[in-house]
Amino acid sequence: MIGFYGMKESYDCIVVGGGPAGSTAGTLLANARRHVLLLERDRFPRHHIGESLMPQTYWTLQRLGMLEKLKASNFPMKESVQFVSGSGKDSQPYYFADRDPGEWSRTWQVPRDKFDRMMLDNAREHGVEVHEGVPVKEVVFDGERAVGVRTAAGKATQRIGAKVIVDATGMNTLISRQLGMRIVDPDLKNAAIYAYYKGAHRDDGRNAGATLIIHTPDRKGWFWSIPLPDDTTSVGVVARPSYLFTGRGDDPLATLDQEIQNCPGMKRRLETAERISRAYVTSDFSYRSSRIAGDNWVLVGDAFAFLDPVYSSGVFLALKSGEMAADAIDAAIGEGDTSGERLAAFAPALLAGLHNIRQLVYAFYDEAFSFGRFNKEFPQYRDHIVRLLIGDVFTDGVSDVFDELRRWVKLPDPFSVAEKTAQ
Ligand SMILES: Cc1cc2nc3c(=O)[nH]c(=O)nc-3n(C[C@H](O)[C@H](O)[C@H](O)COP(=O)(O)OP(=O)(O)OC[C@H]3O[C@@H](n4cnc5c(N)ncnc54)[C@H](O)[C@@H]3O)c2cc1C
Repeated sequence: MIGFYGMKESYDCIVVGGGPAGSTAGTLLANARRHVLLLERDRFPRHHIGESLMPQTYWTLQRLGMLEKLKASNFPMKESVQFVSGSGKDSQPYYFADRDPGEWSRTWQVPRDKFDRMMLDNAREHGVEVHEGVPVKEVVFDGERAVGVRTAAGKATQRIGAKVIVDATGMNTLISRQLGMRIVDPDLKNAAIYAYYKGAHRDDGRNAGATLIIHTPDRKGWFWSIPLPDDTTSVGVVARPSYLFTGRGDDPLATLDQEIQNCPGMKRRLETAERISRAYVTSDFSYRSSRIAGDNWVLVGDAFAFLDPVYSSGVFLALKSGEMAADAIDAAIGEGDTSGERLAAFAPALLAGLHNIRQLVYAFYDEAFSFGRFNKEFPQYRDHIVRLLIGDVFTDGVSDVFDELRRWVKLPDPFSVAEKTAQ
């Protein structure tokens, strides 16, 4: 039978959300010959923040068949990350190729409207049935088991069934909200104000595509500066909401301008630039879900966890979790066991990688820590830091650096996921 969007009654998998996590999971499941429906609320292209990739996205992008498309794009190449102090002093950039000169040690700075559309089109080309402009209202449960989703068009609703539902709804966290599983990290409650500029200063050569992380003078916040095509630069300030919004009026653009003027490292790079967008405001509270999978459902990308954006890890973790989940789902359907326990098989590996990035995030926000000082005192760990910054967080040995870092700063305990939802 065919419903009002021309969809069938049931599929092997329904993926909710067509961002990087959803298109990755959908494409890889379709490659495994699973019958996949992907429902996206918006119509692409749509604006999205999160433009700087980590080089280790390479391997998932390769599996997706995206590398040639990205190589043919005009997206700037990112070869390093550079930290700038509150006084405006540039530190030595972390060049990714220093530890391995392969092409996987470079990556792209991506305008997300274009990148996400490329990823979604790629999913279609690989056999995913994609519908845009179709919000999912809820996941339908029979007891603990997810059995389908309910979509809506005006007043009419439609229920579609699936063996497995993949929640890739990003910060909307559909299942996590439905089951009350969202846990906010009390130590990482930040917000961001950002805008786009044309004509900002860029360094030459292999520094031209760098992501810059620039401290504000009082270390109350930091800026990102990310070069995009057409001489456009994404610039955003991140700090506690109380700092950005309390007693500063209700014009975020005025706050952004003020922060730029107060920050020598950012101000001099924007001296010749013209702002070409409005100011956007977003919460970037770090959070996670208490579970990653249940009977017939799995969470991927920001729908599972969001980590502070300082190291640009969001899209990388969206791709990686989408990939790990797709492999687990394919195997689980093959074995006829789509229980939560079986589907969560990838959780320990994902959580270990996430924990490595999260520890480095905690170090960044600790006033006792600076990359410059750490490098000077412990040059033997520079390679570990580069590995963390490229996203090489799933292999042994990279976490040794935290044994030293723990002496300087308070690092978080790892978190785990529960097997059952608390009643
Ligand atoms: C301030 C800030 C800066 C950031 N900077 C970076 C960066 O430089 N690099 C980086 O890698 N990451 C960055 N991130 C993180 C990055 O944006 C996310 O981690 C990434 O987009 C997650 O991908 P996703 O596919 O999980 O979710 P999303 O990209 O958010 O995609 C989710 C999709 O689901 C759709 N959807 C939601 N609800 C429904 C529904 N009910 N029905 C149907 N569809 C639905 C949405 O429309 C959306 O298209 C940043 C985040 C913030 C807040």
